[in-house]
Amino acid sequence: MRWLSISGCRAVAFGIGGSILGAISTLAQINESSSLPEIEFSQLSQRDPNPLGEKALAIHPEQWKHAETEHFIYHFVHGYVATPVSVEAEFHYRVIAKELERAQPAGDIKSHIYIFERPEEWQEFQAFGKLEPWSGGIHSAGSLFVQRNPAYKFSNNLLGHEIVHLVLHRFYTDGIPCWLDEGFAQFISKDARASYERARGYAAKPHSEAIPSQDLIPLSILTATTHPPSDRVRIFYDESERLVRFLAATDKPNFLSLLDALARHQPLETVLPRLYSGRFPNIAALEEKFREYASKDFGTSLQQVNN
Ligand SMILES: [Zn+2]
Repeated sequence: MRWLSISGCRAVAFGIGGSILGAISTLAQINESSSLPEIEFSQLSQRDPNPLGEKALAIHPEQWKHAETEHFIYHFVHGYVATPVSVEAEFHYRVIAKELERAQPAGDIKSHIYIFERPEEWQEFQAFGKLEPWSGGIHSAGSLFVQRNPAYKFSNNLLGHEIVHLVLHRFYTDGIPCWLDEGFAQFISKDARASYERARGYAAKPHSEAIPSQDLIPLSILTATTHPPSDRVRIFYDESERLVRFLAATDKPNFLSLLDALARHQPLETVLPRLYSGRFPNIAALEEKFREYASKDFGTSLQQVNN
């Protein structure tokens, strides 16, 4: 795979570019000026079996409105807050389904997204769930709970990151390792955010954080961690993102096979040499190459991977 130096083509170099075309046409269909049509709760096509959903809707029950798109169901207070969320959610769904080269799982269910606005209600709800340190959202058993301030225009990948978790959960219902879940969520949402901005006419390119090599968490620890360590949150997310990016850039088909195997709870130590036999016969060999990649400048290290 050849490295393209034009920043606008960076996503293309990873294969995300192909999926962007379909996603952009979705953007054209649901643009933010056309409001999400509100429907009665009783008319929703599916109910959320997650008890946290019931808890959310019990907070000022009279305020909640509801809507539905192809893959998601929304519970919200104002349509003008929910509409851009729905655009971003469907956009990410398409990008991820294409990235994973997967059709929608048979009998697929829709993911529920709850959008709080008032800080005091959000704080009240937080007692019921565990906040993700990165995004401040709560992702639980396939449902997402977020706070959006209508006065603030979001321009980062935090919502996208959470939506990637929702979609991954639909494709891998038994769960995947924490580093892979968080790393993939960062990897996709950063690239998708840049593409999304470009589709709306802004100059944007994905930004992957380089990590000083002395700060890197050893892969034996990173890949065994079951939740982001509170004292090294930022490194954990950045390093996981780089590891996913590195494995995907090294060999995309084998990266997808790796994802499938880890989702079946097979150990990385046995899966890695089977799928990346020529390059990484063991985790130590991966670690050696990865340390170099993780700590070097994004563009430079990519060129090295591709050569
Ligand atoms: Zn996350």
